[in-house]
Amino acid sequence: MDFYSTQISNLVEQLSHLPGIGAKSAQRLAFHILNMPQDQVAGLSNAMLSAKKNVRYCKECCTYTDDELCPICSNPKRNHKQIMVVENTRDLAAYEKTGKFEGVYHVLHIRLSELMVRLQGDVDEVIVATNKNLEGDTTATYISKLIKPLGIRVSRIASGVPAGGDLEYIDEVTLYRALEGRTDM
Ligand code: ZN
Repeated sequence: MDFYSTQISNLVEQLSHLPGIGAKSAQRLAFHILNMPQDQVAGLSNAMLSAKKNVRYCKECCTYTDDELCPICSNPKRNHKQIMVVENTRDLAAYEKTGKFEGVYHVLHIRLSELMVRLQGDVDEVIVATNKNLEGDTTATYISKLIKPLGIRVSRIASGVPAGGDLEYIDEVTLYRALEGRTDM
């Protein structure tokens, strides 16, 4: 990119590291940023730095949060004996939007050890809501094998979710049905 100045090349290069952003998109975004008002650019870069610095994992459920405990884990009105296992924080948000789930969550981030520690507490049911694809099913089966010997009920969301479906893009009614129609593993 010799035709761009060093500063522009650097901005394009940094942007192109983001997922889904190819060289063309990175250039488009770079020039968009250059055309933005100064305070908007400051807002964007401050939001990134501040989130990176302050957001951490919830001590209980491992979702991303600003405090030691996320708002769901610190809510006494939630059923803390019913844990829904999801793959990531975006899936958690998708289920929260249904407004129908009163239990709490556990966000895997592909790590299981924190979940196993948590299950040493008082838990009635673990609902495995990993995505309905090969990887999600494999994870679900694995989790079930680990948890069942603990005498905790393990269930799996129903297959109302289309195969290969990413939970994030499924509407709330479908998610609610998948939850209601869950079956024991
Ligand atoms: Zn939490």
